Amino acid sequence: MQRWTLLIGGRKIETEGFQNVINPSTGGVVGAMPLATAKHLDAAVAAAAKAFVTWTDVSDSDRADACRTTGDTIEAHAEELARLLTLEQGKPLNGLGSRFEIGGAVAWTRYTSGLSLPVEVLQDGAEGRVELHRKPIGVVGSITPWNWPVMIACWHIIPAIRAGNTVVIKPSPLTPLSTIRLVELLNEKLPPGVVNVVTGENEIGSLMSAHPGIGKVTFTGSTATGRKIMQNAAGTLKRLTLELGGNDAGIVLPDAEPKKIVEGLFWGAFINGGQTCAALKRLYVHDSRYDEVCRELTAYAKQVVVGDGLSETSTLGPVQNRRQLDIVSTFVQEARDKGGRVLIGGTPADGPGYFYPVTLVADVDHGCRLVDEEQFGPALPIIRYTDVEDAIAKANASSMGLGGSVWGSDLGRARSVAQRIEAGSVWINKHGAIQPNAPFGGVKQSGFGVEFGVDGLKEFTTVQTVFV
Ligand code: NAD
Repeated sequence: MQRWTLLIGGRKIETEGFQNVINPSTGGVVGAMPLATAKHLDAAVAAAAKAFVTWTDVSDSDRADACRTTGDTIEAHAEELARLLTLEQGKPLNGLGSRFEIGGAVAWTRYTSGLSLPVEVLQDGAEGRVELHRKPIGVVGSITPWNWPVMIACWHIIPAIRAGNTVVIKPSPLTPLSTIRLVELLNEKLPPGVVNVVTGENEIGSLMSAHPGIGKVTFTGSTATGRKIMQNAAGTLKRLTLELGGNDAGIVLPDAEPKKIVEGLFWGAFINGGQTCAALKRLYVHDSRYDEVCRELTAYAKQVVVGDGLSETSTLGPVQNRRQLDIVSTFVQEARDKGGRVLIGGTPADGPGYFYPVTLVADVDHGCRLVDEEQFGPALPIIRYTDVEDAIAKANASSMGLGGSVWGSDLGRARSVAQRIEAGSVWINKHGAIQPNAPFGGVKQSGFGVEFGVDGLKEFTTVQTVFV
């Protein structure tokens, strides 16, 4: 079994402690994650601070070039990264799985490398010249979740370094190895200390949030952890971007054509086995289309192959960890107890691995956790409505506000409903289709700040106004 190392200041650092990383398809051990201590974190922050002095002075075009070459390196190692990702995360190599994730990481890296933040001249005349400059913050702490670990690491690291910052990243202890490998590859192209990785338990994330040497924390994960990070960051008034949980609603309007939308609905909900922040997690369907949508979704679900991610025929993998599997099982059982009708799935598979079948639950409503909370797994509640106003009100009856979607044939009508959904992103006739040029972020308790595009890049800077 491979014992992995931290990467600090361009050097591989061994730790005394290790923790096994488990393959969710088999329960076997993938490798040993190094357990960083507070001292390792201090060393990583010091290395990043040292690298910042020179990295921030590199010309803008040279920095853009360096960032761009990291995309080439990731691409050259795409298959190796995809296999490692599948082993520790569970998602299949194929479909919207590991190869897709690594492809996304490359695309985001390239696009973001090409962005820039030129000086803006706000005024230039007899009364003087006023310029707006964007300055890097310093050392950025990145804390990532287990669902899309490589792509999200790139979403954090690339804009941070493109804007002139340096980074210490701490991946989830459930999926740390692909991030360590990613950082090793980035270090082949970047000066030492620009990107460092420390791995360990949640405690390292707490220490990062309070660390006086870190100027900003960019966090993707649950709302509960986001709250803790905000509290811990208060002492040093860190800048924060918090991309948190979601409970995205989709509304199927009376003029939708179920056969045309079924594929989009299915993958909007079940991408990565539902373990996606902006997946469709509650589906509201008009009474006139309800039975047909249930039928079409069930037929589609029957063709999906859930299995070991390394098998080329699997299109969905297991749930990533035991805790999440228990949440999904409990929520589905509770929905069933409250009168929910299971159309397909609904019972966890026997081990090994954390497999749960694709599950559709009809005839449910608010008042059960499968609808009210984030299930973050392969189970979709389908709620019947008769009045669109009622569906909009129910979609908005959540403390979350990450994404939402509306499905219908009259695009003008769909658009007017979409704009009334309280969410950072809304889609029409699709769900969760993010792209590197469009800002993405949550409202309400799904967090604040945005990622992607020029707006996302700005989040890694502070404004300096220069009065000449
Ligand atoms: P999590 O909050 O449990 O963990 C995320 C990261 O935070 C991990 O690296 C973990 O070690 C670290 N962490 C845990 N406790 C910490 C603390 N006290 N201080 C600092 N760091 C700490 O989330 P998860 O279970 O890994 O991921 C699932 C959640 O992430 C879901 O709620 C999902 O919706 C959300 N998510 C959101 C987005 C988005 O863009 N909005 C994207 C992906 C996932």
